[in-house]
Amino acid sequence: MAEQPTYDVAIVGYGPTGAAAANLLGQMGLKVVVIDREADVYANARAISTDEEVLRAFQSVGLSERLQQDMLPDRPVAFVDAEGVPFIEMKINSRGSGHPPQQFLYQPAMDHVVREGVSRFPSVEVLLEHECLRVLNKGDEVELMLADLRTDVFKRICASYVIAADGGSSPTRGQLGIGYSGRTYAERWVVIDTKVLKEWDAHDRLRFHSNPSRPTVDCPTPLGHHRWEYPARTGENEQDLLREEAIWKVLGDQGITSEHVKILRAVIYSHHVRVADRWRCGRVFLAGDAAHAMPPWIGQGMSAGVRDAANLCWKLNAVIKGQVPDSLLDSYEAERKPHVTEVTRRACLVGRVITERHGVVATIRNHALRALSRLPGSHTMYQKLLWIPDARYVEGFFAGGGHGAVGWQIPQPWVIDTSGAKVRLDDVLGGRWTILHTGTQPADAQVWTELGVPAIEVAGPQGIPRANVIRDTDGTLIGWLRRKKAATMVLRPDGFIYAAADSGQPLPAPPAGFTGTTTTASTRTGASA
Ligand SMILES: Cc1cc2nc3c(=O)[nH]c(=O)nc-3n(C[C@H](O)[C@H](O)[C@H](O)COP(=O)(O)OP(=O)(O)OC[C@H]3O[C@@H](n4cnc5c(N)ncnc54)[C@H](O)[C@@H]3O)c2cc1C
Repeated sequence: MAEQPTYDVAIVGYGPTGAAAANLLGQMGLKVVVIDREADVYANARAISTDEEVLRAFQSVGLSERLQQDMLPDRPVAFVDAEGVPFIEMKINSRGSGHPPQQFLYQPAMDHVVREGVSRFPSVEVLLEHECLRVLNKGDEVELMLADLRTDVFKRICASYVIAADGGSSPTRGQLGIGYSGRTYAERWVVIDTKVLKEWDAHDRLRFHSNPSRPTVDCPTPLGHHRWEYPARTGENEQDLLREEAIWKVLGDQGITSEHVKILRAVIYSHHVRVADRWRCGRVFLAGDAAHAMPPWIGQGMSAGVRDAANLCWKLNAVIKGQVPDSLLDSYEAERKPHVTEVTRRACLVGRVITERHGVVATIRNHALRALSRLPGSHTMYQKLLWIPDARYVEGFFAGGGHGAVGWQIPQPWVIDTSGAKVRLDDVLGGRWTILHTGTQPADAQVWTELGVPAIEVAGPQGIPRANVIRDTDGTLIGWLRRKKAATMVLRPDGFIYAAADSGQPLPAPPAGFTGTTTTASTRTGASA
């Protein structure tokens, strides 16, 4: 058995969650090992949709532009009846994160780009075709037993922390004895990926065909693909469902023939609603599908995994670098679990709308929602109730005091930085703790700046360019701060607001044990402490 060196973080699983974490931790300069039993990315397309906050997380590691080259932004979403007539049509509105609010994607293509991103970081070692056999908490480190599947050699490695991103059947979760409560839908869904040969009407939108006799989802996916998903009927045999004649029958009912698409692959999935009972066990953290599973209806399984990585990685970095106590890491589950639970609730709700099997109930649903859709503001309301919840954590690592801005992720408009360049806000913040203030810097910000936290003034479009001042070109940021009654706020490295104060109010002090700033990304502007 070969003895291996010690790492800051070992990531078990190189799916989208593990690969996102590897990019984030690599950019922070940590010594990381990623382990996956497979030789390449999972070839069957699974995820087809993501959102603006996920792209914002990828922006922080310089991948958002490249990823978007292979995505389809802002396509309409329609719930249609058995005749294909819409009863809800909506275009997803932006929540201000600086990227298109809705993106369709092709998961294998995305997985490749995210993995290519990891290769930029020499401190990240990737061990493919390695199986993690055991993860053992041992006081101030974790020991992992690996098998090199190419040579049958066993390796023992150690890491300060482990991220178990090893998917829904997470062997690590099992070894740690952590329950995965919830249920699995009895219904099995057929998932078809096709290559488009000739476009048809409505080929460009996501449609939930809420047909009681055969609910179906069809969705454009980039790089010339199109996806169909539909449930097996009681008594239908899986092998029969995957036969080409059976697939063409379902597509044919929607007017799609071999003239329009070529079938690439067909698989059957069961959907799960589950959440791990604990997301932390000693120095091991569950993330992505290992921590939660949800049906795919609002495109959030993988997206939630990327959110987990974005939440956890800056905290690991800060703890490993001795800038905050280890107890900060308990806030990972406290922040992420309620958000994931709400996302899952909404995904199930959308699933209920589209899979209603009772003909009379479906007719009433169609009439009621069609009537509601004619009312002003209904689209915003649908989005608020059915789609992705706000980027906001109610509980977690935040200053007390109950200020209304605390826990929100700050919007990301374009701003003019100190050099006069037009950049996205996060490119100014650079993944650091930062104080943003309108008007004069309050005196009680000093306790923060003395710990190396930079203070940046947000000026209006007419502001005079000078050091540590950014200009909010269209007033988005200043307007948002005003609505939240916040003249000063302290941002965490992930852009969530740790503390806030209106003019004349005291700004909360740094958290106990906070010894200095965390630089989690290469800083790209001239703001200094
Ligand atoms: C039909 C369908 C549609 C979907 N649509 C969407 C969507 O539109 N949007 C969205 O966001 N999500 C969607 N999802 C969900 C999304 O695909 C998953 O949530 C996502 O892939 C999970 O990523 P992960 O990295 O957490 O886990 P995985 O992708 O499952 O990766 C886990 C990795 O761990 C490795 N591994 C496991 N055990 C070990 C071990 N012991 N040693 C070494 N390696 C190990 C595996 O080989 C694997 O590579 C969909 C899923 C399905 C099935």
